[in-house]
Amino acid sequence: MSAGLAPGIDRLGTETAFSVLARAKELERRGRSIIHLEIGEPDFDTPEHIKAAATAALAAGHTGYCPSAGIPELRAAAAAYLGASRGLEIDPEAVIVAPGAKPFLFFGILAACGPGDRVLYPDPGFPTYESAIRWTGAEPVPLRLDEARGFALDLDELADALDGGARLVILNSPNNPTGGVQPADDHPAIAELLAGTDAWILSDEVYASFLYEGSFASVTEQAGMLERTILVDSCSKTFAMTGWRCGFAAVPEALREPITRFLVNSVSCVPPFVQLAAVAALEGPRGEVDAMLAEFAARRELVVDGLNRLPGVSCHAPGGAFYAFPNVGGVPVGAEELAARLLDEAGVAVLAGTSFGTTAQSHLRLSYAASRAALAEGLERMERFLATL
Ligand code: PLP
Repeated sequence: MSAGLAPGIDRLGTETAFSVLARAKELERRGRSIIHLEIGEPDFDTPEHIKAAATAALAAGHTGYCPSAGIPELRAAAAAYLGASRGLEIDPEAVIVAPGAKPFLFFGILAACGPGDRVLYPDPGFPTYESAIRWTGAEPVPLRLDEARGFALDLDELADALDGGARLVILNSPNNPTGGVQPADDHPAIAELLAGTDAWILSDEVYASFLYEGSFASVTEQAGMLERTILVDSCSKTFAMTGWRCGFAAVPEALREPITRFLVNSVSCVPPFVQLAAVAALEGPRGEVDAMLAEFAARRELVVDGLNRLPGVSCHAPGGAFYAFPNVGGVPVGAEELAARLLDEAGVAVLAGTSFGTTAQSHLRLSYAASRAALAEGLERMERFLATL
């Protein structure tokens, strides 16, 4: 006997990367050699000065509860960081701290949307968007990222989708899973389209520091946009701090208290010693972030060249993040079967594009947050496997 589950629990989706990781680890446990290209986290350690700040904070006794919206030091540092990197003035009072970027996606959607609301989100996109939208009972409206535009939004399609109404529009550039970047030139037109609606915007900018050409541009730089945007960033990727769980966002005034209330009711706060380490990350030297980006740039070349040499595979050079999203439409098996067989038969863990929505049926996602040697070996295994098909 059991009491059963909440009605609607099936509406809550998941992130395939974690299940593929579990399966890959199980194969490894049984003695198989696996090349891990499935998980989206930097393969670098957190810089020493950040770890030292956490250790010092622990030694100084910063181990208790602290304010749910974040400690004032981090809210101020994050306001300055977001402002300087986006050319904006951001009030520390507007900044909320949470355990990673993810709570802003989930609680932001929960705070702003309800049954029947239309929520526009990128497809392919980070799975939490659709999952949280469905959980609220809102209507998920996928915004196709256009492969021909390097996986940027098509503005006519955005206009058409907005015509049907929108409670919230989610943007994510650089994008996971495609590495696509919305050209900065598009932002005035995007802002004009959004200005004609009363939609909230959630701009997920966790890959803002990983851009291979040009400089980062955020839609919030356009007049009138910051006031209606949950501008989300995180220490996770930029400072190789995925396990620390520390994200931050500039939040429109009306949403600050509700999002904080979700934090009060769920996680209470981000540990203060983690927050003090995040202050050191945001205010400290950027040398290791720059070195990480330079290494990702070299790997990007290796992976994109290698993929484009494989039969039936074509791959855009991603403009940002650390994911390659090759089109495998010319391979004689479908992307899901290919991903499964690459893991089981070739020992290469990748994800199928179908894990990220409905529009990328013929794609794989490879994270190149792996060493060059692992990437080269993964590509060789893929080549050998494709030759058997
Ligand atoms: N947003 C995007 C687009 C991501 O790719 C990820 C992690 O993969 C997140 C948010 C979550 O980041 P965090 O670890 O800070 O919660």
